[in-house]
Amino acid sequence: MTIKTEIISIDSIKPQPERISKAAKFVRNGGIVVFPTETVYGIGANAFDETSCKKIFEIKGRPADNPLIVHVCSLEEASKIAHIEDKYFKKIKKIWPSPITFIAQAKAELPKSVTAGLDTVAIRMPAHPVALSLIKEARQPIAAPSANPSQKPTATTGSQCIKYFDGRVDCIIDSGSSFFGIESTIIDLRTFTLLRPGPFTPKEIENAFSMVPLVGKIASGKASAGQKVISPGTKYRHYAPETPLFMFEGAENKLTKIVESIEVPFAIIGSSEICSIADRIGCSTISMGSRKDPYNIAKNLYSSVILLDSLKVKFGIVEAFEEQGVGLAIMNRLRKASANKAFSTKRELLKLMQILNSG
Ligand code: AMP
Ligand code: MG
Repeated sequence: MTIKTEIISIDSIKPQPERISKAAKFVRNGGIVVFPTETVYGIGANAFDETSCKKIFEIKGRPADNPLIVHVCSLEEASKIAHIEDKYFKKIKKIWPSPITFIAQAKAELPKSVTAGLDTVAIRMPAHPVALSLIKEARQPIAAPSANPSQKPTATTGSQCIKYFDGRVDCIIDSGSSFFGIESTIIDLRTFTLLRPGPFTPKEIENAFSMVPLVGKIASGKASAGQKVISPGTKYRHYAPETPLFMFEGAENKLTKIVESIEVPFAIIGSSEICSIADRIGCSTISMGSRKDPYNIAKNLYSSVILLDSLKVKFGIVEAFEEQGVGLAIMNRLRKASANKAFSTKRELLKLMQILNSG
């Protein structure tokens, strides 16, 4: 069913109050609103409205056991929803708003769909003027997962949200590009474990809390299906383009030799450094920016993956990045986008291509 979607353009730094008001009205009236945050765009509803929150799952095709993040406009609001231990309160106060989500024991009765029936809740205060004004003006916390149909690459621009959701939601706020381009960092406060790496890096967490977070296999995107799942979202295939994607984990100077005799059309996604090498062999390339600026790589990650599908190639090859700082989050998303299919030699690449042909 198609519905009328109100598309509202709002300045990302100085949101126009009357436009925020219009969008917030949709939230208050039980509508679904796509809105920008500093990480990625979210598809949101009043967190206390079960019917509306359920609609988010339907629209996204999201599995019911994958809970939503509740977006708040203050730590005080968060502590009405979640039990935040005193030892963390002041520390979170210092760093919020920022691209970090906390999992804590749920306090208030939230709809089952928001928490997926867990006794914990994910809470976050976004550092984006539009998101914050929207939550304030809605006078309710907003439950929102990332704005993408389930499994598809996340939308990081208003125009991508319009492509995904025009005619399916009540309102889309277009504020151009998100600032970081990848989803928030998630920390489980009960065990101080990093469940999902994001723009807020392990080092920054350590500095803010004077505690080193536990970083397990889940954080790298390598956790296998059989492992115990703490954050339900981590078990699903994610962020994947239609075009198969393989990750190149070998030495950069070997890449041209490995791919030069491949006859089917393919594309290389990676840093400007690797793309300039690949350009010499004449294959399609998608540059995410210089390796020297990993935040820029993160910002361009999803739009690059989305661009791959428009090239109509048989497969894409994506460069592996150093798993340091924000690089941990970049690799987590790329491993999922490539369904953990990696190669470092020609033989391994040929094997992946063979599987592709036989499938
Ligand atoms: P998204 O906004 O689409 O990135 O999805 C929200 C993410 O938060 C998913 O990975 C969820 O699994 C995770 N999440 C939400 N609530 C909880 C919770 N109570 N415990 C663990 N992870 C959660
Ligand atoms: Mg998501």
